[in-house]
Amino acid sequence: MNPQGIAVLGATGSIGTNTLDVVARHPDRYHVVALSAHRQLDRLFDLCLRFAPRYAVVAAGADEAALQRRLRAAGVPTEVMSGPAALDFIATLDSVDMVMAAIVGAAGLTSALAAARAGKKVLLANKESLVMAGRLFMQAVAAGGATLLPVDSEHNAIFQSLPAGYAGDLDAAGVSHLILTASGGPFRQLAASRLADVTPDDACRHPNWSMGRKISVDSASLMNKGLEVIEAHWLFNAPASRIQVVVHPQSVIHSMVQYRDGSVIAQLGNPDMRTPIACCLAWPERVASGVAPLDFRTLGDLSFEAPDLDRFPCLGLAFSALEAGGDAPAVLNAANEVAVAAFLDGRIRFTDIYRLVSDALAGMDLAASDSLDDLLLKDAATRAWLGARLS
Ligand code: NAD
Ligand code: MG
Repeated sequence: MNPQGIAVLGATGSIGTNTLDVVARHPDRYHVVALSAHRQLDRLFDLCLRFAPRYAVVAAGADEAALQRRLRAAGVPTEVMSGPAALDFIATLDSVDMVMAAIVGAAGLTSALAAARAGKKVLLANKESLVMAGRLFMQAVAAGGATLLPVDSEHNAIFQSLPAGYAGDLDAAGVSHLILTASGGPFRQLAASRLADVTPDDACRHPNWSMGRKISVDSASLMNKGLEVIEAHWLFNAPASRIQVVVHPQSVIHSMVQYRDGSVIAQLGNPDMRTPIACCLAWPERVASGVAPLDFRTLGDLSFEAPDLDRFPCLGLAFSALEAGGDAPAVLNAANEVAVAAFLDGRIRFTDIYRLVSDALAGMDLAASDSLDDLLLKDAATRAWLGARLS
């Protein structure tokens, strides 16, 4: 068997690094064709030394020249490119069988869409693509004949817990509900009165997972779970009324499917993204991921509670945006990205994230855009609208 070619978009991030950790365990199966990073040149340089990809992509032209010089001097034959068009280029190469879409935020949309249109096996970590452009994305997957595999641990768990070959019909599969588990984040037990004073570092100190800063803040506000509800809607063709969220602080059950007959099928494992990543890389086979096996003899208690929508109103906001439809999820996503960046920069309080996203949903036109260009304009308009309020 020839190794499968992989392009890792967002290779220097948390998901990218975990992906390359699993890939490196199976050189007979996977061959790194291309890597991308935004501005983290040193880390991308190290990855190029280690994996010798055919292409490496960075954001800016100046970085492109600098990285190319360093790689030449080190005798690495990688060709360096830059900009969004270069991301699309590596996502659609003939030599690329699968694309790990692990860029953070709306910046990951166009390259993930390009991979879908080109009929690749798309390993989707970038949930924002589906939140922003779920309909267009699922259409591109169908039109391109792509295979879409969810990397997000909850969706990967549901994917594994649904019947094999699930074709998007909950009733035909006998499913009553999809149950997304949430750790509850670092502020699960914090009093409402103290949420206004938490710092970015507090928010990024997740109890179970080590992740990039944007998704860490989303996990702390439960907006991440809200984005995941919308992601589940598109991936599994499930209406909001059939998606439940339950807080499960140990993050051992990664999500569940509840069936009509009362059965619940769950996927369990240690909280380590290398498990869902390995599942997607090898599907329908199974490969070692490096994750320690779950030991039920020492596991202890698993507990569950309802999410507190008063302290974490972003989750309710995302459910409402899904129910409102149209461009509401895209506006929610864009506003959340701006608000989270402002919080990480120390410009707003944690509790302002909800207020700003909710203001954007009230202030923007939510009618559905029917082309990608219009959707990108709506995304940009939302960012500008909120940016003006913040300055
Ligand atoms: P991260 O911040 O650690 O890494 C992001 C990567 O994207 C980096 O390689 C960075 O260079 C690149 N990048 C950032 N901005 C970019 C831009 N404008 N253009 C091109 N590249 C850019 O993020 P992460 O935690 O790895 O998350 C990546 C995606 O995976 C997110 O959509 C996140 O929601 C999703 N996800 C992450 C986890 C996790 O455990 N980290 C779990 C589930 C889903
Ligand atoms: Mg998740």
